[in-house]
Amino acid sequence: MTTTTTTTDVTTGSCKRCGRPTMVPAGLQVAVVCDDCAASAERQARADGLQRSLVRAGMPAELLRYDAALAPHPDLLQWCLRHSGQWLWLSGFTGVGKTRALARAVAITSWRAGAAPFSVLWLESALWLESLRSREHSQQAAQAATLAAAKRVDLLILDDFGQEALDDRTRALLFGLIDHRYVRKGMRTWITTNASGAELEARLGAGRWPQIRRRIVERGTMHYWDGKTWQDETQYSDRKGSDVANWWEGM
Ligand SMILES: [Zn+2]
Repeated sequence: MTTTTTTTDVTTGSCKRCGRPTMVPAGLQVAVVCDDCAASAERQARADGLQRSLVRAGMPAELLRYDAALAPHPDLLQWCLRHSGQWLWLSGFTGVGKTRALARAVAITSWRAGAAPFSVLWLESALWLESLRSREHSQQAAQAATLAAAKRVDLLILDDFGQEALDDRTRALLFGLIDHRYVRKGMRTWITTNASGAELEARLGAGRWPQIRRRIVERGTMHYWDGKTWQDETQYSDRKGSDVANWWEGM
């Protein structure tokens, strides 16, 4: 007489992916995948889906391909992730890795959001503001759609902000957008720039830059990165108004 006890409904099969023995329900021996392989397949599927949705959100595809040689400075990435729930302002010279760090932080933050990822829109500032300047009739629907999305998304990225002088209409649209996101809490806005405070003052128009800066400070953290180090954000994240102006002007 055979002695089958608790093992009647479970048997040992081998994982069709890695070949390791794995317990499977009896009668289901056809195609089995171990827990590890199932989890990694699920992760891959999520990563593929995430990649597609971030490309659709406007993030340059080359930023999504992980390249160890171009990986952002780990300290900077950690800083972005630590503050990823709020507004971020990241300034520093071209080439120090601000955009790469931000892109990585966007991907990781979206990843952590999991099954219900929040919406993201990645705008290359100069291109976007240039497109806003067009008065061509054919462009207007696209202009309106992008602006509406920029007001709505959970996370808006304005990369390489403050590159050029804006006309009055574009300034008004930009300020309207920032104000819209500022008054509704929880609308994260991440901005990179290599422009100095004086340049921003000149390009955004007198009085505009201090207003924008005040909103950023109230909703998040401003950070200057030189490629290796930054000032501890706690030194200025608590400052308001003129203290921040002094900090900025001192850079
Ligand atoms: Zn396996």
